Amino acid sequence: MNRRRFLTSSAGVLASALVPPVRDGVSASAGQSRRSIVIDAHAHYGYLGGFGQQRDISFEECLEAADQAGIDKLCLCSIEALAFEMTEGNKAIHRLMKQYPDRIIGFATVPSPYFGKKGLDELQRAIEVYGMKGIGELETTPAYPIDIPHWIAVLKKAAALRVPVLVHGSPSTCARAAEQVPDVTILLAHLGTGFGLAVGEWLDTIEMAKSHPNVYLETCTSITAYGQIEMAVQELGSGRLVFGTDIPLLDPSVMKAKITGADIPSEAKENILGKNMARLLKL
Ligand SMILES: [Zn+2]
Repeated sequence: MNRRRFLTSSAGVLASALVPPVRDGVSASAGQSRRSIVIDAHAHYGYLGGFGQQRDISFEECLEAADQAGIDKLCLCSIEALAFEMTEGNKAIHRLMKQYPDRIIGFATVPSPYFGKKGLDELQRAIEVYGMKGIGELETTPAYPIDIPHWIAVLKKAAALRVPVLVHGSPSTCARAAEQVPDVTILLAHLGTGFGLAVGEWLDTIEMAKSHPNVYLETCTSITAYGQIEMAVQELGSGRLVFGTDIPLLDPSVMKAKITGADIPSEAKENILGKNMARLLKL
């Protein structure tokens, strides 16, 4: 029994009897029929390994957690393709897309920038043949940042294919990459944090995004600083943020609460939670 099933079957039963069900959090009293779409721009499934727990987390388990958080669609990237073997990992996403066509938006990725033409061909096949709608997550490191030539080639391929790219990188390297490929749409994961959890790095990210209009900020973070979403909306406008969870590495309900609980207008929450991503993906 996993953690969620345990809670549902014990204390959660009592809680659900006392509290009215709220799935959307955007306009809680409005009811399901008026809720606008919620798209998770940053989702995975698979073997966590070096990312945390030593276990294989199925897509179905991730979907159950997404259901509990009130998420309609997941931009899904395989951990296998991201960290281990791109071809089989992207194929597995394609199989899941056919199995869950209303829930999954496929994202294709490569585990390293050093596959050259083979990697670029793999991404093109995933977009044009498998029908995926985005690239990434590109898992960069301080040693292999997003502005090195091999990653720049991937960004140029994304621009040519007219799909957004989810990038795990720092604000400074993202800025240099965005300048080199001005016609690519970069979704900068974790508000530009994620390497060593530098305190306040997200402030640098917001500042960078002001002068780089092709960079959108994806909102899931390990450290949820006070006022983070409010400041991002104030400085950039809600049109530049996209909701993501990094499920199953982070908890989707907690990541969604960052948005639903922020002191910003309902319209801004709807933009961040799904409308911006729907626009970028041309849904
Ligand atoms: Zn991720």
